[in-house]
Amino acid sequence: MKISDDEIDRLDREDSLASVRKLFHLRDGLIYLDGNSLGPAPKATLREMERVLRSEWADHLIASWNTAGWFRLTDRLGAKIARLIGAEADEVVVCDGTTINLFKALHAALALRPERGAIVAEAGGFPTDLYITEAVRDLRPGLDVRLEGRDGTTIEALIDSDVAVVLANHVDYRSGALRDMAALTQVAREAGALIVWDLCHSAGVLPIALEACGADFAVGCTYKYLNGGPGAPAFIYAARRHHGSIRHPLRGWWGHRDPFAFEQDFQAAPGIRAFLCGTQPILSLRALAPALEIFEQLELRQVRDKSRALTELFIALVEERCTGQGLSLASPREAECRGSQVAFRHAHAHAIVQALIARDVVGDFRAPDLLRFGFSPLYLRYRDVRDAAQSLAEVLESGAWRDPAYARVAAVT
Ligand SMILES: *Cc1c(COP(=O)(O)O)cnc(C)c1O
Repeated sequence: MKISDDEIDRLDREDSLASVRKLFHLRDGLIYLDGNSLGPAPKATLREMERVLRSEWADHLIASWNTAGWFRLTDRLGAKIARLIGAEADEVVVCDGTTINLFKALHAALALRPERGAIVAEAGGFPTDLYITEAVRDLRPGLDVRLEGRDGTTIEALIDSDVAVVLANHVDYRSGALRDMAALTQVAREAGALIVWDLCHSAGVLPIALEACGADFAVGCTYKYLNGGPGAPAFIYAARRHHGSIRHPLRGWWGHRDPFAFEQDFQAAPGIRAFLCGTQPILSLRALAPALEIFEQLELRQVRDKSRALTELFIALVEERCTGQGLSLASPREAECRGSQVAFRHAHAHAIVQALIARDVVGDFRAPDLLRFGFSPLYLRYRDVRDAAQSLAEVLESGAWRDPAYARVAAVT
């Protein structure tokens, strides 16, 4: 397939999301293909944080817990995220980090299936998911962890009547493979198991229907496609049918039915707030609000359509311009089976990514041999995709990546 510059110009002219780009602070010349790791700063966040710091914190101090609504930010932001993941407003709270929320969600699911003896998870999932699953197992003698991918087994084949909970990533952090949420949730339900979805790489970039699928719990990041800022708090969802029976070991005063009664006995909050532990990073929560407001103007269907077009274009251009350069596609070829990222394998992936970054094309390297590129439809143009593919072709053809400067591996990749 040959794609002309005219065609790319037409795609940009007809892009219904084109005007969203100006809501973000993006340096001229930068092609940012790492919004799946850390989204860029919304301009509204930059303006809003100045006000939050001066007015809410500096001037009004402790009164802001009430006057600025700090105490209920977890719920108000959760309601905004609910719309993006197919949940009701009061089924989601924003709190803590994804790792911590996974710990709570797994315990909550296990508490609902005390007679069952196994968790199913993915060997190749994001490592924190695996570590937390094993940590939960270590705290519950007799519990077994069955891992997809250890003996070539599929996740579905591991689910039977002894499984209490299935933990699955909606989009694989490396390959970008997208799971069929409705189908896997159905398999878990039929076996009487509960399911916890990790939405880190899908929230904000494709439509999600937790409730319609019958999902039990879900967790996800807000600093990736939701652009909440570095270290922004995560979210956690529980289907309404579980409200009233959410139990986990990190019981703290924020998860109490009446925190300001300062009672000696713990009584869990009746709804989703039972997942709260203690005081939240209010400034980070405040930074998330303007980022989520951007999504209020958008339909995720529209976002998904552009995301598919961007990733499809990138694959086509790279395969057209980089033939014979040792790259192979590590992501699903069919757009329906792919999230919003594209990964290629190459024996020198790390150095190539560094050479691209030096040319202002920012993707990332994932060990051992992946070049990973995330495509956020909110601020990427079709011409950015074309220029990124062209830079990749130039780096490979010229051998520019062989520069020893690109061999240095930083602490964060
Ligand atoms: C990014 C990511 C995380 C990150 O967890 P933190 O607690 O925010 O560090 C967890 N799981 C998946 C699948 C991720 O992609």
